[in-house]
Amino acid sequence: MAKKDIDWANLGFGYQVTDKRYVTNYKDGKWDDGAIIDDPNIVLNECAGVFQYAQTCFEGLKAYTTEDGHIVTFRPDLNAERMDQSCERLEMPVLPKGRFIEAVKEVVAANEDWVPPYGSGATLYIRPYMMGTNPVIGVKPADEYQFRILVTPVGPYFKGGAKPLTIKISDFDRAAPHGTGHIKAGLNYAMSLHAIVTAHKEGYDENMYLDPATRSKVEETGGANFLFVTKDGKVVTPKSDSILPSITRRSLMIVAEKYLGLTVEHREVFLDELPDMAECGLCGTAAVISPVGCIVDHGREIRLPSGMTEMGPITKKLYDTLTGIQMGRIEAPKGWICTIK
Ligand SMILES: *Cc1c(COP(=O)(O)O)cnc(C)c1O
Repeated sequence: MAKKDIDWANLGFGYQVTDKRYVTNYKDGKWDDGAIIDDPNIVLNECAGVFQYAQTCFEGLKAYTTEDGHIVTFRPDLNAERMDQSCERLEMPVLPKGRFIEAVKEVVAANEDWVPPYGSGATLYIRPYMMGTNPVIGVKPADEYQFRILVTPVGPYFKGGAKPLTIKISDFDRAAPHGTGHIKAGLNYAMSLHAIVTAHKEGYDENMYLDPATRSKVEETGGANFLFVTKDGKVVTPKSDSILPSITRRSLMIVAEKYLGLTVEHREVFLDELPDMAECGLCGTAAVISPVGCIVDHGREIRLPSGMTEMGPITKKLYDTLTGIQMGRIEAPKGWICTIK
């Protein structure tokens, strides 16, 4: 066994097929024992629930090589809990939390040679997902499901450091008022694709979605939560029932309070408040925090005083502390680091 011959430092953020994946099937009301398999392809009936009524959801987390050479993941228990919630909302069966965590560990260990080395800037992205597999034509939940985990090595989300992004206040809504905005499911992404392709064509990096009921409050982007720093140094993150509870954002709130001694507010954030913000970032597993330099509201530019050249000072401290915890350079709060090897 030896590490794969990959130019780790120059990896992009894309899918690359790896050696092993995890699979378990749900039938007659129970999950089978599960296994690590070789075949990356899935063969399903043409009428499978996933194709007809989009019964599918997913999770995303990473495995890291720490400074002292261990392979670890970050808070997989929270991914398991969040997938439970997605499954419940989509009338899919829940995979018990213990099984989810064991499956993550097993599939990472089976692909040990694909885990990027410490200091390379790359990580192993882990993608658990579930889908309805048996034929359904009348509108109802499927009876049979498959849960899988694929892994793929990914480079840093932003090559050569994070350049602040320009964000468009979207004309489209990401979520319906009592819809599925709080779950991690492809259906939310499918309906955000036209909005992001449109924003990119207009020269923006991302969309800021507003609350669908009043369009006066900040929600999130298509795939990351917002975090703001006010001009008086408080960390503020939007609270809403229709945004996905980011594990990165929840962890950064704890880092801000417990490690950096900052005041943290999780509350509704109004569009009108944006000119009072000193820093803004997008939080998610892929990039940890991406700085935002400018938010554009139909021609009105709101420039963050932290600027368009680098991360703001508090955003940078948050980023360095959380990545330090994940890579084993800074002591983690109890239970945050799950050691695989
Ligand atoms: C995955 C995701 C995030 C980020 O969540 P993390 O747990 O931090 O990776 C934010 N918003 C949406 C819509 C997502 O799907």
